[in-house]
Amino acid sequence: MYPAIAIDGPAASGKSTVARLIAQKLQYTFINTGAMYRAVTWYLLQRGINPQDTAAVVAALPGIPLSFGKDGSVSTVVCEGRTLTDELKGQEVNGLVSTVAAIPEVRALLVRKQREYNESEPVVMEGRDIGTVVFPDTPFKYFVTASEEVRAARRAAEGITDSIAERDKKDTQRAASPLAQAPDARLVDTSDMSIDEVVACIADDIRA
Ligand code: C5P
Repeated sequence: MYPAIAIDGPAASGKSTVARLIAQKLQYTFINTGAMYRAVTWYLLQRGINPQDTAAVVAALPGIPLSFGKDGSVSTVVCEGRTLTDELKGQEVNGLVSTVAAIPEVRALLVRKQREYNESEPVVMEGRDIGTVVFPDTPFKYFVTASEEVRAARRAAEGITDSIAERDKKDTQRAASPLAQAPDARLVDTSDMSIDEVVACIADDIRA
């Protein structure tokens, strides 16, 4: 098993872009775990299952046909042969994904899949609980953040208007594996840094 590179942080902190570039640099596979929580949420909505009905969500979990594909060095989420991309970014998914992600059974299923991935290949994995729960023993943990203003501006520049503050609040306050910096994670505040600077900072730290 390879030591995973764990990158956590709040929404729109820049962690996805940074994680993807670091994976490219190291020739590791990039895994966006948010896409997995989004895929579960999307699937439930497709099937007419109310994501707020925890019992119904838990009952549906064993039947969710999620698998993974690859686009270059990027892991993709596949559902019944369909690679999910834009489906995962809709307003409805944005608004409900934190509710689904707060369900312990959902987390248990996805954490298992995330750990399995790292058994076959080296990964840069990005999410909220990678350094605290998924790979607590990896020596490579980074908590990437930015001020709320900078994050809101980045989101707006991408044309996304979901309430990241609300999602972060739900992610931070939930009982099951809340968004948190692992005690041994290195904090990287990207508010005043370019993407290249952030990538260089983390890549240098990994190589050191
Ligand atoms: O990373 P992204 O913003 O796409 O994640 C969407 C949502 O998935 C988060 O707001 C959070 O509720 C959930 N998530 C999580 N744990 C992870 C990754 C994402 O709870 N490791």
